[in-house]
Amino acid sequence: MRVTCEVVAGETHDLDLPDDAVYGDVIRAVGFSEHEAAVLVDDSPVPEDAPVAVERVRLLRLVQGGDGEADTVAAADAGTSAAEAFALLGEPTRFAILRAIWETETPTSFSEIRDAVGTGDTGRFNYHLGKLRGEFVRKTESGYELRQAGVEVVRAVLAGVVNEAPERDPEPIGATCPAPDCEGDLVVAYDDHATVTCGTCDTVWMDNEFPPAGVTGRDAPALARALDRWTRHRSLLAFDGVCPACASETAATVEETERGTFLERVCGHCGHASRAPLWALALHHPEVSGFLHEHGVEVADRPFWEVAAVDAETTATDEGFVCRFSLDGGTLRVTLDGDGAVVRTERDD
Ligand SMILES: [Zn+2]
Ligand SMILES: [Zn+2]
Repeated sequence: MRVTCEVVAGETHDLDLPDDAVYGDVIRAVGFSEHEAAVLVDDSPVPEDAPVAVERVRLLRLVQGGDGEADTVAAADAGTSAAEAFALLGEPTRFAILRAIWETETPTSFSEIRDAVGTGDTGRFNYHLGKLRGEFVRKTESGYELRQAGVEVVRAVLAGVVNEAPERDPEPIGATCPAPDCEGDLVVAYDDHATVTCGTCDTVWMDNEFPPAGVTGRDAPALARALDRWTRHRSLLAFDGVCPACASETAATVEETERGTFLERVCGHCGHASRAPLWALALHHPEVSGFLHEHGVEVADRPFWEVAAVDAETTATDEGFVCRFSLDGGTLRVTLDGDGAVVRTERDD
């Protein structure tokens, strides 16, 4: 049979193979060993011992050079697709290897990793370690260590994002709804997102992606507090123009809704979105936090739903948006631009 094999970031080979050839024969026919390369069909790796069933394949080199010194990585340099990268992890031993290296925190020797993983079959172990080298693991003179992608995989699994799905039914958090004339009980719930809502008027006071690891071991008030901290700190990044998920740039849009004026920041790279009332973006300005402090409101300590009880009215003007904070007869007017940056503050006491 004739098979065309395109080496990713390399040459294309027309191969003449026996009719009962397996994908491992393709790797060898191109001049690599099975430890150095994976065959991709429709962008997914196929087992080396499976019979060749297509006329065209791609070959992804995982490691170049057989002496173990130079990890020239075709995969990373050619821009491994996410599907290829995840497919490399489709084997439990490979995650066990990443975790074993991660736990040592320093470059680790071949035998230390093998002992930690607890496999008796050195050949199989070597094969799986070889598959990880390049994208996830690198070998230096002092041993094996994780590359950033390997660290991210271990962290994602430890945070439970990949393999756990706890759910929590709504439970009271011991706080009252700040909506005017409501006074309902606030409840926290979890289902991938953590939310704090009012059980009476249904207003959503906070809603955010939250790692499952943060749910475990926390009662309702503690979960609500952790959600508040998590959301506020990450939003600060987003509203500062840096995506909290991928560190790319975020762009701002102002939305006028029935519930007030909101600013949304969306990442141009990964689509992560953060949304907050415009007045909340003014809270960290020293004039604003100082004014609130004088009137007994500690912005930094209080959860958002308590700060939201502050009377803050927003109106659009030629200059931007004016948020008017009124407390005990004192008023602070804060002008923000369309990016949520404070332009000016004025006090009338
Ligand atoms: Zn309410
Ligand atoms: Zn992003």
